Amino acid sequence: MRIPFLNLKQQYEKLKEEINSVVLKTLESGWYILGKECEIFEQKFKEYLAGESNGFVIGVNSGTDAIRISLITAGVKAGDEVITVANTAIPTVSAICSVGAIPTFCEIDGDTWLIDHKEVKKLITKKTKAIIPVHLYGYCADMNNICSIANEYNLAVIEDVAQACGTTYMNKKAGSIGDYGAFSFYPTKNIGACGDGGAIFVKSETDYEKIKMLRNYGQNSKYYATKENGMNSRLDEIQAAILNVKLAYLDDWNKLKKELALKYINCIDSLNLPLQYQKGYDGVNPAYHLFVVKLKKGNRNSLINYLALHGIEALIHYPVPLYKQEAFKKYKTDELTVTESLMKSIISLPFHQYLGIDEVEYIFETLRAIYYGKSD
Ligand SMILES: *Cc1c(COP(=O)(O)O)cnc(C)c1O
Repeated sequence: MRIPFLNLKQQYEKLKEEINSVVLKTLESGWYILGKECEIFEQKFKEYLAGESNGFVIGVNSGTDAIRISLITAGVKAGDEVITVANTAIPTVSAICSVGAIPTFCEIDGDTWLIDHKEVKKLITKKTKAIIPVHLYGYCADMNNICSIANEYNLAVIEDVAQACGTTYMNKKAGSIGDYGAFSFYPTKNIGACGDGGAIFVKSETDYEKIKMLRNYGQNSKYYATKENGMNSRLDEIQAAILNVKLAYLDDWNKLKKELALKYINCIDSLNLPLQYQKGYDGVNPAYHLFVVKLKKGNRNSLINYLALHGIEALIHYPVPLYKQEAFKKYKTDELTVTESLMKSIISLPFHQYLGIDEVEYIFETLRAIYYGKSD
């Protein structure tokens, strides 16, 4: 059996008619930037995240820009410090550096693999302006504690929700809890565009107005700029139209992925596999994005090679702590032992909403055979 990590074409095939039709309609409309589709998406996505309560969504060009624009809007400037984690996708930190700010890497919790609020306080200095909790693999950070620290020290909270679209925390959607929620619609995410896309959720109308200008050259009306640090970061009409189609399926997909994750967890427990899986904080209902396991013993590369030999594609999200990478080495940090121990020994198993039960059984029979030998 061959089980690729992810098959995006499969997702497209299922929605082919709907997607083709809205793409053609958009092409024929003759309006490609900042039009109806983007407006509709912003409205629908705002309702998805916050229902009737306060809030605004602004479509942007990517998740990276969503973080970058949130930082600028929060007033983070060159030389300011921003606290985040080292076990995340590169863009969390490249967005911080892109505004000239300094990333401060915080230790994670060994069970949830997310930012450890007890460590956050120790890193706060006079220069600290913001915290970026990353809701990794679909699990939401400990937002009550993060937000209360942020309140105490007057810091902005920018949620990196790229991997947690649909996750809830105490019945609120992840991304609607802090000051800014930065979403990515990179094709592999829980809701992905057929290209790049992103969005920002904000509660404050002032922030909303500011972000609308920033994403569009800094102009406040046509040909009149009021923000010097404006850029071009718009969610285009074709991507917005595709996202409008997909948003209607997001909860169903997340439900299927949750059932799949529970199956994985059940297999690990019942087969007594030496694999640790991620735990959630109280009140979290995760929209699983990846299914990552930490090896309690054995060599990760041999496991990946063995799985590959049996047709199963496993990946690593992510292999090297960001402060150990050339780009970010200069931001000195103490060695983060929990982070390093995790990143040394994790693998991501194939995981998507169309994975069949026979495929799941095959993956776990293969894993069982590795640790306990072939059955019969
Ligand atoms: C995907 C991702 C991003 C960046 O999103 P892009 O849309 O590719 O710019 C940021 N943070 C995390 C944690 C991600 O997984």
